[in-house]
Amino acid sequence: MARIVQKFGGTSVSDIDRIKSVALRVKAEVERGSEVVAVVSAMSGVTNKLVEYCSNVTNMSDAREYDTIVSTGEQVTSGLLSLALQELGIDARSWSGWQIPVITDGVHGKARILKINSESLVPLIKQGQVAVVAGFQGIGPDNRITTLGRGGSDTTAVALAAAINADRCDIFTDVEGIYTADPRIVPNAKKLNKITYEEILEMASLGAKVLQTRSVEMAMKHRLRVQVLSSFSDAPGTLVCDEDEIVEKELVSGIAYSHDEAKVTILGVEDQPGVAAGIFGPLADANINVDMIVQNASEDGTTDITFTTGRAELDRALKVVKDNMKIPYRSINSDRSVIKVSVIGVGMRSHAGVAQTMFTALADKNINIHIISTSEIKVSVLISESYKELALRALHTAYGLDSA
Ligand code: ADP
Ligand code: ASP
Ligand code: MG
Repeated sequence: MARIVQKFGGTSVSDIDRIKSVALRVKAEVERGSEVVAVVSAMSGVTNKLVEYCSNVTNMSDAREYDTIVSTGEQVTSGLLSLALQELGIDARSWSGWQIPVITDGVHGKARILKINSESLVPLIKQGQVAVVAGFQGIGPDNRITTLGRGGSDTTAVALAAAINADRCDIFTDVEGIYTADPRIVPNAKKLNKITYEEILEMASLGAKVLQTRSVEMAMKHRLRVQVLSSFSDAPGTLVCDEDEIVEKELVSGIAYSHDEAKVTILGVEDQPGVAAGIFGPLADANINVDMIVQNASEDGTTDITFTTGRAELDRALKVVKDNMKIPYRSINSDRSVIKVSVIGVGMRSHAGVAQTMFTALADKNINIHIISTSEIKVSVLISESYKELALRALHTAYGLDSA
């Protein structure tokens, strides 16, 4: 008998009709003889609304209350899906994070799952009851509700699948699988039959929100079979698996982008030892993540240093540089209308020239590159946000990824 975790994202449970249709999908899995755990997100748009309520009251100084509020969307859908299943004659019950319990650390707003205690849940699913679990939430050491960061229901599903030794975790969403690029931006994107853990991990961390990064880390650690597929069709999805399960390895498997970028340039700092430490030390002390960094060559003994950080952190980063940085500089400027575009592929390890294709394709479209960074299996560039569609489509074509 197979044990399956099925996760349904926001658009898959966006209204009562969709919830009824999801219930039919769960029922079909039960009728195939599987033990089923269904993990649900909030109805689409609901979490955004709840976040907005919070920010309309305060600037979120108390993340514990933020979690109390934003976790409620999933509670509603878990109850509704349980009712819809019962209506179809299926034994089902809802579970909140704390009831299972999904035990997390105490970092409210972006907690990490430490442990899932499945002792109460497993005997019930063994008896044929469907467990409908509210995704995105857990319980922290302070005995209060925590949430797992935006997109966190993916992580609930994968972590639960690992905890109960599930045979597979199916992530149902609003596209038919993982594509070579976001199909909403690149209409010619191709659906991948299979992708390696490593590649989707890189794609997710570089902005492809089809899976939350932590869910991929967890799937990779447990070598769990994860499938991404649509709840709107019966088309086969994408299997996330080990590299040796993939026969034809592409040079580039995908292109991702991230909006969550802001650029800071500090002009006219002295070109001498200790300057980078003098800039990035105070930022690290203030817990501000810095991603890409570039330092220009100096001509007159001074240089410019440019770095990127998350958009939400920009104001804080500027304040830290102005208030806490001890080294002298001439001026500072910033830009929040930039995006990071990355090409990803395990095939890059053994091939030169991948970055050059990217630079040429962007140059042909007259797109200026602000910063470049590379790793073994990706090349990223920072460009102006206004070129998003143009750049993604041009790169997709340049790497021969367009569907026929
Ligand atoms: P859910 O609510 O089901 O969790 P999300 O909106 O979080 O859905 O994730 C699905 C979305 O991810 C798709 O609608 C698509 O726009 C986006 N996406 C970004 N990159 C990719 C990609 N490479 N393949 C598929 N979808 C992608
Ligand atoms: N509802 C949460 C969010 O919108 C979690 C999720 O959908 O995965 O981020
Ligand atoms: Mg999601």
